[in-house]
Amino acid sequence: LVELTGVNKHFGDLHVLRDIDLTVRKGEVLVVVGPSGSGKSTLCRAINRLETIDSGTITVDGAPLPAEGKALARLRADVGMVFQSFNLFAHKTVLDNVTLGPRKVRGASGKDAEQEALTLLRRVGVEDQARKMPAQLSGGQQQRVAIARALAMHPKVMLFDEPTSALDPEMVQEVLDAMVALAKEGMTMIVVTHEMGFARKAADRVVFMADGQIVEEADPDTFFTAPTSSRAKDFLSKIL
Ligand code: ATP
Ligand code: MG
Repeated sequence: LVELTGVNKHFGDLHVLRDIDLTVRKGEVLVVVGPSGSGKSTLCRAINRLETIDSGTITVDGAPLPAEGKALARLRADVGMVFQSFNLFAHKTVLDNVTLGPRKVRGASGKDAEQEALTLLRRVGVEDQARKMPAQLSGGQQQRVAIARALAMHPKVMLFDEPTSALDPEMVQEVLDAMVALAKEGMTMIVVTHEMGFARKAADRVVFMADGQIVEEADPDTFFTAPTSSRAKDFLSKIL
């Protein structure tokens, strides 16, 4: 469903993605781990075309990423993204946050968008917050609204970039639970996280990045218990 071939990206002299080849199949849950600065966020942003790449190709559902216009808006709908920081529209209610995209990009009617939004908010357990403003919600609730907002666009794949790393510890699990449920429903997911519990429960495959390269790729059990590269061993000794 998502395919990267020979992808390179520089920021000035810094080579942040080096010859990345990666395929994510439909329904697969891929967890990406690696040290700070290894290029994980840049990889996610490239798939959503929030960053351009210098060489190589990225396709989503067989089509190369569009550069602009309506097609790009459609790509951003197809590739849902949840970031580390809560990036809901602060001056709109929870419900408006979730219905805005479907109304604008998908041309859904207000009533349809609202009904589906409430269903999605229920699915992630925050239906009772629908009429509140984001600032009145806890971080965990805001992240779950962000997941509902992305789902409202009917994405083909969901990208999560460290969705729980800015949360207070007691809120991490409720967000991970929503993600596990989504994975079980068959959503294709690319998840940057160091949450081993999530990886064990939900990941089909773990990719370890270092210095812009994919250094190791394995099923979660193998990766966390028997990593082969010294970089991965070193990394795991620090986070476990
Ligand atoms: P972290 O675990 O800290 O989130 P990461 O693996 O997500 O790290 P990236 O954010 O992808 O890493 O960054 C990779 C490298 O590219 C880093 O050295 C970072 O400083 C650099 N970088 C990222 N964005 C930019 C930018 N817009 N301009 C210049 N350099 C950037
Ligand atoms: Mg990052």
